[in-house]
Amino acid sequence: MRVTDWDAIIVGAGPAGSALACRLGAQRRVLVLERAALSTAAAVAPRIGESLPGAARVLLQRFGLFERFLAAGHAERGATISHWDDGDPVWFDHLRDPNGPGWHLDRHRFDTDLREAAMAAGATFVDGCGPLRATHAEGIWQIEQQAFAQTHRARVLVDATGRNAAIARQLGIPRQVSDELICLHAYLPSHVDDEDDCTRLCADSNGWWYSVRVPSGQRVLAFHLDADDAELHVLRSWPNLLAKARRQAVLAEVLPVMADADVIVHARPAGSAMLDPVALARTAPGFFAIGDAGLSFDPIASQGLFHALASVESVAGYIEAGSDTADHLAAREAFLAEQASVHAHYRQRWWDTYAGPARHGAQSFWSRRSAALREGRAAPAAGPAAQADSPAPA
Ligand SMILES: Cc1cc2nc3c(=O)[nH]c(=O)nc-3n(C[C@H](O)[C@H](O)[C@H](O)COP(=O)(O)OP(=O)(O)OC[C@H]3O[C@@H](n4cnc5c(N)ncnc54)[C@H](O)[C@@H]3O)c2cc1C
Repeated sequence: MRVTDWDAIIVGAGPAGSALACRLGAQRRVLVLERAALSTAAAVAPRIGESLPGAARVLLQRFGLFERFLAAGHAERGATISHWDDGDPVWFDHLRDPNGPGWHLDRHRFDTDLREAAMAAGATFVDGCGPLRATHAEGIWQIEQQAFAQTHRARVLVDATGRNAAIARQLGIPRQVSDELICLHAYLPSHVDDEDDCTRLCADSNGWWYSVRVPSGQRVLAFHLDADDAELHVLRSWPNLLAKARRQAVLAEVLPVMADADVIVHARPAGSAMLDPVALARTAPGFFAIGDAGLSFDPIASQGLFHALASVESVAGYIEAGSDTADHLAAREAFLAEQASVHAHYRQRWWDTYAGPARHGAQSFWSRRSAALREGRAAPAAGPAAQADSPAPA
């Protein structure tokens, strides 16, 4: 077994892992291990999650990435047209938001740019890394890359594997999933007449919709419903999903009348979840979980990417503040306290948001969520506090 020493090992090269590697790479030996083979077609398939709030500007500037970001062709967000609360649809823009309107991202470009910036800063990326085994002894984390007969060692180990939380779960840290929300989403081919730059959002009897046009010109259509909804299977068929969406006036005006047979409907878990903070606090020092691995949000909050970047900034600050065991324990305690406050703020906003569509209140999708509110259960898991955006997803 070959053994290599690093200052930090990050598992997962999504936005969180890549941004942290970029933030740390210039001063430290940083390794990023990614499961996907990033050069394959599957890796360049479109990724859901397109809306970045204007508050992310400050973080991108701190990471030295803002110029590159501005040059990447991401589109400024237009207004939101929402038929969420009862009454007529409402239209609101971001004019009064001091952070600016934010962006609709070319998500593939965004993720790739973060990775390339991290490599340019000196981080080492290994993709197609295969199964990993994490252990800790005498203050050192060890990751065995079994298929490659390679061992990596570092004082800092970061789980950035998204909702998978692969390393945390391997270490026995449970992930508390608050609701089994599923997102069905499809990418419609570009249409020359579609110049709409709005986020379109509406509540339905058994879930909620959004649609936006992304910089490639494609339009994303997404529907969120419960995993045990009998209609889930039916809506995996594109003609059925389109027909249901077209019953909503705010969507019908931008969606085609006829279904194009080639459109694929993807399904992804999208509910709120968080790692058990008590188990996390008991884990050996030097271990952190950032981005979705630590806290994942209902897409209605539109805050996952911002949170990924914000958690990077916090963890990078803590890693830089010290390198011995006591420093790492204090750092994680501070990080967990910060995450707890983010979680509490997000939970309150989640409850307020889902209480809105009273017209559907008797339907199980909505009554389950208001029951969570009444009972004070921790329905959703987390979300950025201070810069929380208006309830507009995508
Ligand atoms: C339907 C939906 C809509 C969304 N809309 C928005 C939005 O509008 N705005 C917004 O800000 N956010 C949105 N999000 C959330 C956003 O996409 C995520 O918060 C963001 O991708 C989190 O980044 P991450 O780096 O933490 O995780 P990920 O992007 O999931 O990256 C994790 C990486 O880890 C890798 N990995 C996983 N397991 C392993 C393993 N065992 N070993 C090695 N590598 C591994 C994966 O291949 C991946 O590259 C949405 C999410 C969903 C589901």
